[in-house]
Amino acid sequence: MAERSDRRIVAAAPPTRRVLGERLAIGIDIGGTKIAAGVVDEDGHVIDRLRRETPTTDPDEVLDAIVDIADTFRRDHVVKALGVGAAGFVDASASTVVFSPHLAWRHEALRDRVARRTKLPVLVDNDANASGWAEWRFGAAQNEPDVVVITLGTGIGGAVVIDGQIYRGRFGIAGEFGHMQVVPGGRQCECGNTGCWEQYASGRVLERRAKAAVADGSVIGKTLAELAGGPEKVSGIQVTEAARQGDDEARAWIDEVGDWLGVGIANLAAALDPGLFVIGGGVSDAGEMLLGPAQRAFSQSLTGRGFRAEARIVRAHLGPEAGLVGAADMARLTARRRRPASPDARVRVRGAARSTRSTRRRR
Ligand SMILES: [Zn+2]
Repeated sequence: MAERSDRRIVAAAPPTRRVLGERLAIGIDIGGTKIAAGVVDEDGHVIDRLRRETPTTDPDEVLDAIVDIADTFRRDHVVKALGVGAAGFVDASASTVVFSPHLAWRHEALRDRVARRTKLPVLVDNDANASGWAEWRFGAAQNEPDVVVITLGTGIGGAVVIDGQIYRGRFGIAGEFGHMQVVPGGRQCECGNTGCWEQYASGRVLERRAKAAVADGSVIGKTLAELAGGPEKVSGIQVTEAARQGDDEARAWIDEVGDWLGVGIANLAAALDPGLFVIGGGVSDAGEMLLGPAQRAFSQSLTGRGFRAEARIVRAHLGPEAGLVGAADMARLTARRRRPASPDARVRVRGAARSTRSTRRRR
């Protein structure tokens, strides 16, 4: 089927630079330490990629890096739009990074600044929303209208898809599940509160345990240091490796994280009732060792269990490039909506711009 429709496009219009440009978008995922960027086609394939260190102290340097990446890609590709997924709070109009815990952005009007310098339609969104969108469009969440995507890294990122749309909330902050309080008066969180979910169900927990074990000089500490190639290199990654090799203590730590994951998922099911939970991020590499306990804790904690359908919990499909793929795809689709084909459509888009603010651009 897909092959036949491709052929029809080729027959109708030769693949000139302009036609190719309709299909490609740049996606840039800006994390606390690394920038991952790619040129993404309309099927979510990354056809070219670049990696940079993130300049973390100066917002202007991050802007320069984005513009430089765009220029580099555009030497070889004609692109239609540029999407940025950023680790931080992005306002509901997808234009301003309100706050980023790891970067120097405070009310940074990133969309307009990038658009001015690249002359491309630009979209900015939270990195977890971008990853969630990619899973919904091309990954584990296809064909499921209501989905919650949970990204387990050092912290917990989240995206909510309702009826095939990312739900951003009134102020753009929806999906910050990591900071739901699950233990009143519990562990101190970097956000300033205590007992946040990500202090119990993220990679940070494994990392903390691993570093403490190295410091104690315990047996598992030595195992982890060996796997990491030195005690100072130990992180949560080696916990998964040790568990996979059958280390009981490492398994128990992952089990506990899985348990807390399931408890939080049950709370999200009570609030949102999605058909599917997709678990991504580095910690999800633990696979069944993590998802088994999560599924058990979820079933045990679910309100009305036995009388209601249970959402499925599955692993994400797309891996670490999900963020840049999702950012590119959202930017490409938004740019297409912004450039109406007929006068009728133009009126509709203008109406939508008045009501949502999301299509307004300052010059
Ligand atoms: Zn917190």
